[in-house]
Amino acid sequence: VRIAPLARVLPEADGAHYVLSLRDISELRRIDRMRSDFVANASHELRTPLASMRGFIETLQGPAKDDTRARERFLSIMLDQATRMSRLVDDLLSLSRLEVKSHIAPDSIVDLVPLIGKVRDSLAPLAEELGVEIVMDAPQGKVEVAGDPDELVQVFENLMENACKYGQEGKKVEVRIANEPGRPVEVAIRDYGPGIPAEHVPRLTERFYRVNVEASRSRKGTGLGLAIVKHILTRHRARLVVRSQEGQGSEFTVRF
Ligand code: ADP
Repeated sequence: VRIAPLARVLPEADGAHYVLSLRDISELRRIDRMRSDFVANASHELRTPLASMRGFIETLQGPAKDDTRARERFLSIMLDQATRMSRLVDDLLSLSRLEVKSHIAPDSIVDLVPLIGKVRDSLAPLAEELGVEIVMDAPQGKVEVAGDPDELVQVFENLMENACKYGQEGKKVEVRIANEPGRPVEVAIRDYGPGIPAEHVPRLTERFYRVNVEASRSRKGTGLGLAIVKHILTRHRARLVVRSQEGQGSEFTVRF
């Protein structure tokens, strides 16, 4: 860092008292870099399915023009790609909406028991398809927190969907709601999948961070689910605690 002598910068202020203010902009630089990484990642994630769709369209216009079987197959692949792009755009929009209102704390009173019950019901078909069973353990009566019901649905949907996707076929996904006197309300979602190596755990909520890119893609992931969860929980003054052991499974706990 080079600082010019003040008398040279402000010769007319000679003899006065000065306040020299230095500002460390490395944090701003870091945020700037994260933002441009994010744009690069998002563009790449959208460009990949687009390029593949173009390839299929060109093949259908040319060499496979009269091949009915190829047409059916390519159209179904293109539908999958388009669905993937829609999901990605939805997640990107969710993230940008959340950023805009990140400083406003939500103030409705939400009973977590029926809310999480509904999420479990909506995920039952996926759980069945993946060969896992979601079991729920909730206390009698209401478990109320201050929150935004739609956002909390998104949090538990993302966490329970991950537990089903990355859990172990034939095993359970356990959802436990705890409301002990004098302790924060907690919701823990546990799976018995392969778990997450310790070095990846601190980075899971970064946008587009995936432990295993191919596994995530094949399980229809966008890599944005946990980033969305983290943004929503920050707004709710809640925390996400991740415990995972390789070969034993993972537990994602939301602590209000
Ligand atoms: P994705 O859309 O890829 O699932 P997420 O942000 O939801 O993105 O999760 C980020 C990554 O964290 C996933 O790609 C996966 O590698 C890992 N992950 C998330 N939940 C689990 C889990 N319950 N068990 C093992 N790995 C998980």
